[in-house]
Amino acid sequence: MTGGVGVAVRAWAGLDAGAQSDSVEQPKLTGGALRGRAMGETPAGGLDWAALWDRIPGEDAALLAELTENKLLATLRDRYRDHRIYTYVGDILIAVNPFRDLPLYSPEISDIFSSRPLSSLPPHIFAVADRAYNSLQGNPGKLSRNQCVVISGDSGAGKTESTKLLLKHLVRRSRGNLQLGQQILQVNPLLEAFGNAQTVMNPNSSRFGKYIQLRFRDGAVRGAKINEYLLEKSRVSHQDPGEKNFHIFYYMLGGIPDEEKQVYGLLQPSLYRYIGSKWEEATPSHWVESYQRVCNAMRMVGFQEQEELDLKVILSGVLSLGNVVFEPQESGGVGVCPTAMGWLKAAAGQFGVQEEELLSCLTCTLSLTRGESIRRLHSQQQAEDSRDSIARGVYSRLFGWIVCKINELLAGDMDMGKELQEIGILDIFGFENFSVNRFEQLCINLANEQLQNFFNHHIFLMEEQHYKEEGMEREAVPFSNNQATLELFLARPWGILSLLDEQSSFPQATDVSFVEKLNSTYRESPLYERGRGFEPGFAIHHYAGKVKVSQEKGSSRKISVGAQFRHSLAVLMEKMYLAEPHFIRCIKPNSQNEPGLLETQTVLNQLRYNGLMETLRIRRDGFSWRPSVQEFVARFGILLLTPGAEVSRESCKRIAETAQLIGWHCGKSRLFFKYWHQDQLQRRLVELRDAAIV
Ligand code: ATP
Ligand code: MG
Repeated sequence: MTGGVGVAVRAWAGLDAGAQSDSVEQPKLTGGALRGRAMGETPAGGLDWAALWDRIPGEDAALLAELTENKLLATLRDRYRDHRIYTYVGDILIAVNPFRDLPLYSPEISDIFSSRPLSSLPPHIFAVADRAYNSLQGNPGKLSRNQCVVISGDSGAGKTESTKLLLKHLVRRSRGNLQLGQQILQVNPLLEAFGNAQTVMNPNSSRFGKYIQLRFRDGAVRGAKINEYLLEKSRVSHQDPGEKNFHIFYYMLGGIPDEEKQVYGLLQPSLYRYIGSKWEEATPSHWVESYQRVCNAMRMVGFQEQEELDLKVILSGVLSLGNVVFEPQESGGVGVCPTAMGWLKAAAGQFGVQEEELLSCLTCTLSLTRGESIRRLHSQQQAEDSRDSIARGVYSRLFGWIVCKINELLAGDMDMGKELQEIGILDIFGFENFSVNRFEQLCINLANEQLQNFFNHHIFLMEEQHYKEEGMEREAVPFSNNQATLELFLARPWGILSLLDEQSSFPQATDVSFVEKLNSTYRESPLYERGRGFEPGFAIHHYAGKVKVSQEKGSSRKISVGAQFRHSLAVLMEKMYLAEPHFIRCIKPNSQNEPGLLETQTVLNQLRYNGLMETLRIRRDGFSWRPSVQEFVARFGILLLTPGAEVSRESCKRIAETAQLIGWHCGKSRLFFKYWHQDQLQRRLVELRDAAIV
């Protein structure tokens, strides 16, 4: 134990003098063996959690003497084994998912991060939140800027958990309106119920992206706003093997008592096609609890009872609609199978529409040509597609309505005339590459390209700017710039999204003609590859790998989605470029979601395509340690052997000379050192002390 923090934590955790009180919140071990004996593990197998607060080398990987890929990996592995899941690479936080509850996030620990200098504390997610909060306040004489925290990582890496921890710290830190704080914290369980689902990657996978803006005035939270992106609505009607529908369906079917189900028109869960075989006979108790939690969250956020009721009735309507099946009619076209008429009636009732109207939407298309309305009968396939697309549409509008309602309820007091400051937190789906990739994957991967570009801009280009500001000449560090990939998507008029818009406006356009157009436009592009199979398709080389993008049926629907997504992404990026960014890179240590297991290849892949190796390189080739003139003189002025060294660049130069440092630079207000210079200076201090003792 090196500081007071460990002692304090030990006391809170009830670990003083080895005693554990009953009230101690013990970390739950969620299965899987801890490999090897972890640091801090007592011989009896108990874990000394307070040891996590010891300060040890390796907390900032950018300062390690050897900066190779293997060294970074070994550092992360050693730290992970000791439950030290957080590590810095300069100002970026790496968070390796522990897949178990760690006692690192109590209110008391939150208070420590609010009250002590962050440099005296180990890497932690609360430190990132605190830095953003402090920067929001601005320094004397320095204008404050809005802040944004960008959290990235694979599915299951811990982005959403990190978002919740950031919010928790910020709400506690900002001594705002207590009720508003509680409402904000209830937003996540609510959004997760409607927007998350079990996938093969993560049992609680977010199937939408979100940017949460916390709004502050005079340091206190005054409101919050959520922007949501690309809800994966296809999940409502189709789930791949090993995956489930959105959580809320299971919570509702499992949690609503039988006698209450008729209020919503809900029947046996296994009867519903959209749930069907995904229903587990024995209702897991957590579904019942989760249902209660969602209802509580809705009430706490401020939804009216009637709104809650309507919402559940409409959700039941989605399930009823899914059971409407069709058969060909002798007179031509299709009709609803007689056995499914009850479902049609139920769905119409639940949606509050006329049964005939719903039937007509399902079985035919009406179009207006020269003032004349023309009725085209659907084939069986078209009727089924209409059914699923109405169900998806209803669900995604419901989700949109929930988000709007939350924004209305959490808008807070915005009318005081004084401008509000913001901390935004971006929790957006990671890069996706499935066996069949659809338009949704194209948009998701485009968003990730944008974020990587934003990261590159900040880390590499801003770094260069920083040197320039300090009056230093320095060669640019090469990095994989993904600007060309972004242009392939976004450029006008020849980018993929523009071509899609253009093609979709031709009535005769098909998937095949669209892909042919892409093939001819990007013939020469190294980032584009033509499809090889019989189905129309193509592949894009992303920074994280190659993804084949297959077209879905009915691509005309994609125009508005594509244009809308491009617009919302542009608005988001504009906001982020104006803000001061903080980056959290979440790492998934293994694909089995097991605690204590770190798979080398899995982690290496993520380090590579997250650009972390390049970030390390810029720190190694660049000057990773940059104390201000004041800091440097205060710490090493003693090497001049004269009391009260003057705080000046001249003193700094003399100190560096005494320690025989080579290859460092003196900027206007800062000094630029290689990581090993710090060791050299430290050694000089020790030599001096030893000489004094002798
Ligand atoms: P997706 O992109 O699929 O939404 P994600 O990156 O948001 O994935 P999370 O849902 O945040 O991933 O995390 C997956 C699981 O990992 C959580 O349900 C939780 O069990 C565990 N987990 C993540 N972070 C932590 C943490 N700091 N402490 C304990 N468990 C964690
Ligand atoms: Mg998530």
